[in-house]
Amino acid sequence: MSDYDFDLFVIGAGSGGVRAARVASGYGAKVAIAEESQVGGTCVIRGCVPKKLLVYGAHFAEDFEDASAYGWTLPGEPTFSWKTLIANKDAEIDRLNGIYKKLLAGSNVELFEHRATFKDAHTVIVGDREVTAERILIAVGGHPTKPDIPGAEHAITSNEAFYLDELPKRVVVVGGGYIAVEFAGIFAGLGSRVTQLYRSEQILRGFDNDIRNHLAEEIVKKGIDLRVNTNVTAIEKQADGSLSLTLTDGSTMIADQVMFATGRAPNTAGLGLEKAGVETDKRGAVKINQGLQTTTENIYAVGDVTDRVQLTPVAIKEGMAFADTVYGGKPWHMTYQAIPTAVFSQPPVGTVGLSEEEARAKGGEVVIYKSTFKPMRHTLSGRDEKTLMKLIVDKTTDVVLGAHMVGPDAAEIIQGIGIAVRMGATKAQFDQTVAVHPSAAEEFVTMRFPVSE
Ligand code: NDP
Repeated sequence: MSDYDFDLFVIGAGSGGVRAARVASGYGAKVAIAEESQVGGTCVIRGCVPKKLLVYGAHFAEDFEDASAYGWTLPGEPTFSWKTLIANKDAEIDRLNGIYKKLLAGSNVELFEHRATFKDAHTVIVGDREVTAERILIAVGGHPTKPDIPGAEHAITSNEAFYLDELPKRVVVVGGGYIAVEFAGIFAGLGSRVTQLYRSEQILRGFDNDIRNHLAEEIVKKGIDLRVNTNVTAIEKQADGSLSLTLTDGSTMIADQVMFATGRAPNTAGLGLEKAGVETDKRGAVKINQGLQTTTENIYAVGDVTDRVQLTPVAIKEGMAFADTVYGGKPWHMTYQAIPTAVFSQPPVGTVGLSEEEARAKGGEVVIYKSTFKPMRHTLSGRDEKTLMKLIVDKTTDVVLGAHMVGPDAAEIIQGIGIAVRMGATKAQFDQTVAVHPSAAEEFVTMRFPVSE
């Protein structure tokens, strides 16, 4: 019998923490989990899930416009209620929170609905109790950050964007990463006048350059005022409640909301990590080794708190790796190559593997295949929207190193392509695969001629 209250105490009931807790419990460990907010973490409560519901909501504006070409007549001008969308989204998040609680209870994981902090390497203070555990898993996630500029307190982040009382008429989104392009698209689709400010040359740094340029063109077509090489230096609240922004070029502009989507930082402040000997890096991220172990042997960490790849499925896989290795007798390490990912911009981006720039930087010779076309749906609607699909192929081995697309259903399409890329499929094997017709996805197996080498 262990001298501890629990074999495993998990701090944070987000995607990574919940998965680790449930799987460890399934292997017979006595497990508890602490959560200070709703169960589900960033992804379920204030991230991927509510975001995707808002993306669906935003897309109806175009769907209504396109419907007439397919013979539909709407009874009148469509109107939109932000309050209805937010209330329905909130109800869905509450439902999911309930499901997560049931899953934990059904897995015999004890839930402490309080913030937990370290007292020492085996003890956490949770609510008014002290609880001991043989091992502790830190899965506390991260939070959005704002730049340190005058008036930043007047701006919101994605956390608040999900709970605004009303849809802002004029909104400025600052940033060029996932969250910025996703929210610029949401606000624009729902009817806000959107300006997106990005401090460098082109949005989505780190993605394939063709994808970045193509998406930028498409979002501008949708009415987003995208200003690259531009940042905000100060925000001032006006007497009428609006916000006056000073930009890097010295100009000013007025908005009803400013949303910073300028990155996220680990939630380690005030956790008492120093009392447990757990070290963090300059950004406050918990340092871990390949086995997800911190600088204290019995304490592990998964997900955004480690500030590596901030993606829900990565945190979930890390939680699985931890539980399988430590409690299941099935040791394995997470690998971080060829992680498929999607940006739910409008149109969305799907990507897996190396960008052309990354592949060329590695020094090998590459062959590039590209296809740009109008999605079939818009042959009737006439909407000026183009899809781009691109493959990066190793010239020597014929292995597909990267697959990228901007266009409807990109997330759905890239998941399957991700399996092929992960397995090291060659371009010849892509070509041997019979196309699904008519689809956009078939372009990935029918690109015959390279555009460049
Ligand atoms: P990102 O790190 O992706 O992007 C941050 C953006 O803000 C970059 O464009 C960056 O510019 C810019 N920026 C940073 N600091 C400043 C500053 N001081 N002033 C102006 N601009 C600044 O962060 P996000 O907040 O968009 O998202 C966080 C993470 O969450 C993502 O990395 C992603 O892993 C995850 N996520 C995933 C989603 C998905 O899978 N669909 C959806 C949403 C989030 P620069 O490029 O010049 O550094």
